[in-house]
Amino acid sequence: MEIYESYLKGMSYVGPQYIAERMNVKRPSAYEALQKLLKKGILKNEHGKYIITEEGMHVAKRILRTHRIIETMLYRAGVELDKACECASRIQNEFTEDMIEKICEYLGYPKYCPHGKPIPEVKK
Ligand SMILES: [Zn+2]
Repeated sequence: MEIYESYLKGMSYVGPQYIAERMNVKRPSAYEALQKLLKKGILKNEHGKYIITEEGMHVAKRILRTHRIIETMLYRAGVELDKACECASRIQNEFTEDMIEKICEYLGYPKYCPHGKPIPEVKK
């Protein structure tokens, strides 16, 4: 999540040190997380810099969109923001893209999540 968000904020590349600090994990865990994304083709390694691929950018947007739509739904239903965010992180993988679009429509196409962060649009 942090990794995806960094790229969507416009960072051109991230390294294990940065991720370790942002995610509050040890450097080896951050390194491992980056390796996983490399394997999936989300990131590419160019001269030791981890750069996001086009496919990765698409995946990043989809994940953030899903997270923010679900937390918006929970928050609007009366769940505290912290809990809504935490719960969304746990359950978001269970939703299909189709369900997310239906929920989005039901919510009236929100532009921002309850944190005030933009909900990215994803082209099919
Ligand atoms: Zn959240």
